[in-house]
Amino acid sequence: MKVSILGSTGSIGTQALEVVEDLKGIYNIEVTAVSASSNIKLLEEQIRKFKPKYAAVFDENRARELKTAVSDTTCRVVSGQEGLCFIAAEADCDMVLSSIVGFAGLVPTMRAISAGKDIALANKETLVTAGRLFMDAVSEHNVRLLPVDSEHCAIFQSLQAGTHSELKKILLTASGGPFFGRTAADLVNVKKEQALKHPNWSMGAKITIDSATLMNKGLEVLEASHLFNVGIDDIEVVVQRESIIHSMVEFRDKSVIAQLSVPSMKHPIQYAFTYPERLPSPDKSVDFAALSSLSFARPDEHTFRCLTLAKAAGKAGGIMPTVMNAANEAAVAKFLRDEIGFLDIADMVETAMQKFDNIKNPTLDDIIAVNDEVRNQLK
Ligand code: NAD
Ligand code: MG
Repeated sequence: MKVSILGSTGSIGTQALEVVEDLKGIYNIEVTAVSASSNIKLLEEQIRKFKPKYAAVFDENRARELKTAVSDTTCRVVSGQEGLCFIAAEADCDMVLSSIVGFAGLVPTMRAISAGKDIALANKETLVTAGRLFMDAVSEHNVRLLPVDSEHCAIFQSLQAGTHSELKKILLTASGGPFFGRTAADLVNVKKEQALKHPNWSMGAKITIDSATLMNKGLEVLEASHLFNVGIDDIEVVVQRESIIHSMVEFRDKSVIAQLSVPSMKHPIQYAFTYPERLPSPDKSVDFAALSSLSFARPDEHTFRCLTLAKAAGKAGGIMPTVMNAANEAAVAKFLRDEIGFLDIADMVETAMQKFDNIKNPTLDDIIAVNDEVRNQLK
């Protein structure tokens, strides 16, 4: 199998390369292309280790530096949005791992689908903003779409126990994040260092903040609704503090099927790479006796308003999820620059959603234009 990795220097990208190493000799994966926004030091290490044919760097200056640094190798360095689209669509690969963070992943991922590449999808913002166009393209080009988000991989696995018409609802689990049990008053002055301390997962900064606000769960509700063709109201968020149950599905006979494993993103990445096969993994087994209990709760949507806002955007449909997502990306960036407080993130998302008129059935150009407009206004 040949894979091209969009975002190979990130949390998902580096773990995907570990999976490639883990599977050596059992299931050989050739890495055709690697890519980054600007971290050329790590990209150079990856080029020397995995010997890809191509490397794409979004930042043009950094791309030039990398070209010089790896001039003794056969790796061809491409740059900018065009470079990312090239390694998504033209590079000789069977599968593209879409693991760029945020809206920036949308166009390259759509190009990969049009080129007939199977997609391992980590980038949830892509489905949130362009879900209908994305899913239509997947069926039009007859490509396989394997979810890498751990909850969606769990749902995908659990759904194998029944048919779509037998499905009653999806139970999407959430860890609750670092601020579980806190009230809004407790959260007024929290700093990014506190928000960046996730209890169960080590991830990139943007998704870690989204996990603290519960926006991540909101984005995941929309992601699940597109991936599995279910209504927003048929997806119930359940807090599962230990992150051992990665999600569940309930069938109409009230039977609940769940997928459990230790919290490791290498599981969904490996399953996406080797599907439909299950291959050995170096991950630890769940030690139920040591765990002794699993705890559940309802999410507190009063305190964590981003979850409610995301669901409202999903129900409104059209361009609203794009507005919501763009406002959230802008707000999280501001929070990470210490320019706004933690609770301002939800306020910024809500204000943007109130301000923008909806567009039914937006085209990809509409989605790109509105994303730019919202982000420019909230810079
Ligand atoms: P990260 O910040 O660690 O890595 C992001 C990657 O994208 C890096 O390689 C970076 O160079 C690249 N990138 C960023 N902006 C870019 C741009 N404009 N052009 C080209 N490349 C760009 O993020 P992450 O935590 O790996 O998350 C990646 C995606 O996967 C996100 O959409 C996230 O929601 C999703 N996801 C992550 C996890 C996780 O455990 N980290 C779990 C589930 C889903
Ligand atoms: Mg997830």
